[in-house]
Amino acid sequence: MKAEIIAVGTELLLGQIVNTNAQYLSQQCASLGIDVYFQTVVGDNEERLRQALDTAKNRADFIICTGGLGPTKDDLTKDVLAAYVGQKLVMHEPSLEKIESMFQQRGQEMAESNARQALMLEGSDPLNNDNGLAVGVALSHEGVHYMLLPGPPREMKLMFDTYGTEWISRMTTGGGGLHSKMLKFAGIGESSLEKELLDLIESQQDPTIAPYAKEGEVTIRLTTRAESQEEAGSRFGPVEDEIRRRLGSYLYATEDKPIEQVIYELLKEQGLTLSAAESCTGGLIGDLITSVPDSSTVFKGGVVSYTNEVKQSVLKVPARLLEGPDAPGAVSQETAEQMACSVLELMDTDYALSVTGYAGPGAPEGQLGLVFIGLAERGKPVEVIKARYSGNREMIKLRAAKTAFYQLWKKLRS
Ligand code: ATP
Ligand code: MG
Repeated sequence: MKAEIIAVGTELLLGQIVNTNAQYLSQQCASLGIDVYFQTVVGDNEERLRQALDTAKNRADFIICTGGLGPTKDDLTKDVLAAYVGQKLVMHEPSLEKIESMFQQRGQEMAESNARQALMLEGSDPLNNDNGLAVGVALSHEGVHYMLLPGPPREMKLMFDTYGTEWISRMTTGGGGLHSKMLKFAGIGESSLEKELLDLIESQQDPTIAPYAKEGEVTIRLTTRAESQEEAGSRFGPVEDEIRRRLGSYLYATEDKPIEQVIYELLKEQGLTLSAAESCTGGLIGDLITSVPDSSTVFKGGVVSYTNEVKQSVLKVPARLLEGPDAPGAVSQETAEQMACSVLELMDTDYALSVTGYAGPGAPEGQLGLVFIGLAERGKPVEVIKARYSGNREMIKLRAAKTAFYQLWKKLRS
């Protein structure tokens, strides 16, 4: 299948926003074994959008548009596609009810234009928007599949991942539907992982093997066409076994979930608790684990000890480690060790993680991305690893936090 992504929005052409939707959809398509041959950007202009659709239709059999599903006058993607394929716009009643009840709850008057967000093309399938109001549209017409997704990335991603992929696999059932399986890795970067699997990736045919990095983790999606789950499973089996043989010590899940979710499950299962002492991650470990529902049963709390003052006063890191020309300093094995040890005591938990490092500009010469990660376990000596990350501040923080969880995961599953 040949796909084309059309991002609609004058803001994109003016350079006011970056076309991250196209990047995301391209990654997802690659991992589903769908070839994206073109990405197009077009403004909020009826005639030029029609031209973009016309061009795409002649060179692709799957066209994904993002943007322009909102209530305002410049949101015209649905109108243009409707006119282009010669279908009427009709109301998707459940979406209209959802919009009406939202306005009711807020005690606001609903403008007539808001109802536009519930419109779909006659004969199309609605794609639910669980993060917003505008309903998405999926339509097959004259052998071409069209998908209209909202512009806001939060809405677009969830819609595509939950309903869009399912729809496309249903539409392309000739020769079996698309089945895929996710393998999730932590503690290893995308390029190292790819290097280990290069021969498999290069000679892949069925299933396809698509690695991609997302939110500080690496995912491999295996995809095949099959009549049933069992048939797909029998094709994934040997490939998965080989990947496990090479990279099993990094493989923490065989479905799409973040490592903090798995940490929560393992701690809960074993009736254990966790705390964290964070310097350069600034609370990110706490943020990630508390994104998992019910995490209060396993995560007791944390200390963000960003300054040396707080490292000393709250976490009892001795001044001799932090100050003076011969002191190891705040970013050191010794400091990570003391941080983990103290927070374990302070919060009275079974395990504690600590992170200290240089995440951003201003790091001493040659030390940007240097991070120490400590893992304390009640009654045992603290284990500290030294890691080195590249990327910007945000990426270094995220990878450090994910690696901390990875250290704990290795401990919990052993
Ligand atoms: P809304 O209901 O918010 O109007 P919409 O579906 O009409 O949604 P647009 O109006 O085109 O979408 O865009 C809304 C916002 O979504 C933009 O201001 C921008 O922040 C974001 N957005 C739109 N297109 C993209 C894109 N291709 N990549 C990244 N962000 C985008
Ligand atoms: Mg809009």
